[in-house]
Amino acid sequence: MTSSSKPNRPDAGWHFDNSYARLPAAFHVRMNPVPVRTPKRVIFNEALAQSLGLNPEALKGEEGAAIFAGNKVPEGAEPLAQAYAGHQFGHFTMLGDGRAILLGEQVTPQGARFDIQFKGSGRTPFSRNGDGRAALGPMLREYIISEALHALGIPTTRSLAVVTTGEPVFRETPLEGAILTRTAASHIRVGTFEYAAARGNPDDLRALADYTLRRHFPDLAATENPYLALLEAVMERQASLVARWLLVGFIHGVMNTDNVALGGETIDYGPCAFMDAYDPDTVFSSIDHHGRYAYGRQPQIAQWNLARLAETLLSLIHEDHQAAVSMATGAITGFPDTFRQYWLAGMRAKLGLSNQEADDGALVEDLLSCMHRHGADFTNTFRDLASGSQPEASVFQAPDFQQWFARWQARLKRQPDAWETARQCMNTHNPAVIPRNHRVEEALAAAVERADLSVMENLLDVLARPYDDPPEESGYHLPAPPSAEPYRTFCGT
Ligand code: AMP
Ligand code: MG
Repeated sequence: MTSSSKPNRPDAGWHFDNSYARLPAAFHVRMNPVPVRTPKRVIFNEALAQSLGLNPEALKGEEGAAIFAGNKVPEGAEPLAQAYAGHQFGHFTMLGDGRAILLGEQVTPQGARFDIQFKGSGRTPFSRNGDGRAALGPMLREYIISEALHALGIPTTRSLAVVTTGEPVFRETPLEGAILTRTAASHIRVGTFEYAAARGNPDDLRALADYTLRRHFPDLAATENPYLALLEAVMERQASLVARWLLVGFIHGVMNTDNVALGGETIDYGPCAFMDAYDPDTVFSSIDHHGRYAYGRQPQIAQWNLARLAETLLSLIHEDHQAAVSMATGAITGFPDTFRQYWLAGMRAKLGLSNQEADDGALVEDLLSCMHRHGADFTNTFRDLASGSQPEASVFQAPDFQQWFARWQARLKRQPDAWETARQCMNTHNPAVIPRNHRVEEALAAAVERADLSVMENLLDVLARPYDDPPEESGYHLPAPPSAEPYRTFCGT
């Protein structure tokens, strides 16, 4: 592929192949991002750019700002807005990219394929009453949290760049407009299948299913029932993903079916946040009045979302409806067990356990109950356990906790590993640092109100190595002071 770069400019390294654009026309509307007044680069992820085969040097200055604002479309891109539907808080709606544009798929020098998507890039036919735009704060917030999840080893979309647009967006007050460029294994959602099923064109549905198999599960295409295998494989990835969220105290906050990616990545960082004190009912989102997407409900909601996917696949799974329903139901009812296996394996690692005993589940649950009773910090309690002796934190002094601690010590002795091995395992599975809500807010306030990016850059640095202890005096490992207001997050920002 040739590049449009002038001879004195290094090639930016774009190499697009746009397979999504080759899906039937119902799945997208071809259109460019809406240009903005004065693009300015705020932050750029050099390491990610390099891993995509892009040349950071060529994407500096005005050139880079123009590209990541959507003002200049790189050669080979075929921008489009994706059509999809979704169950939002349980209610079915036709949606689509109302403020996003898929620029295309970047193929890396290693042959991997990543969607390059703009968020906040202007109105599309799917915008409904929205302005198609985004504000700087929420885009930087997605940048921070998605990069933090990545560093924790959790599958996620990633953040490549944020630019400001030079145009205000109007929310409750005028805010600085911005565009986030994110990368993803794909943006195929449960809602994309719901969209195809709702339109009722069997050829389109099959095209989407075959495309998803090719893109994410190529080995399954040759199995006896590839569409049932697709459902099972997506389930497996969701089970693993949601287990990983729970293991680090992450609350997605808006697990609508349009925000569930079939590739198994965490997608759509709106009202998400990390829990401090352990409480399974924790909700941060200001619009989640009934706790539908509370921390501890995430596995059940994942299963509910997978049932919506299963419904769309019935006609492909078997021509006889009843047979299809019983096959799909058989798969979906296996979700809680699959989830629990991932969760328990992760919890064993957090407790330094390398072998298995029948009572391990109870050991974990009793610890969590104890933490809940004492309002113990989720992250720090697990991290402190690896310090060997009983640390000072007040929960560790409580009699019920001491009892639990003795049980765990005895349990550790019933495995072949030495304590040092267990300790190392714990320190690579229990992060020392998570994006604490008050530190994220502090970084965003500096960036948005004072154009000072240094606070965010320092935070990103620490979050990139979450299993290293930060300097004690930095305070990055501390939960919000008890005096802090309850934390609230917002959607549709
Ligand atoms: P989300 O809650 O971010 O998953 O968004 C749900 C739907 O609302 C998607 O179809 C978005 O594209 C759309 N949407 C969110 N914000 C805006 C906006 N400012 N303008 C247009 N559409 C939007
Ligand atoms: Mg969404």
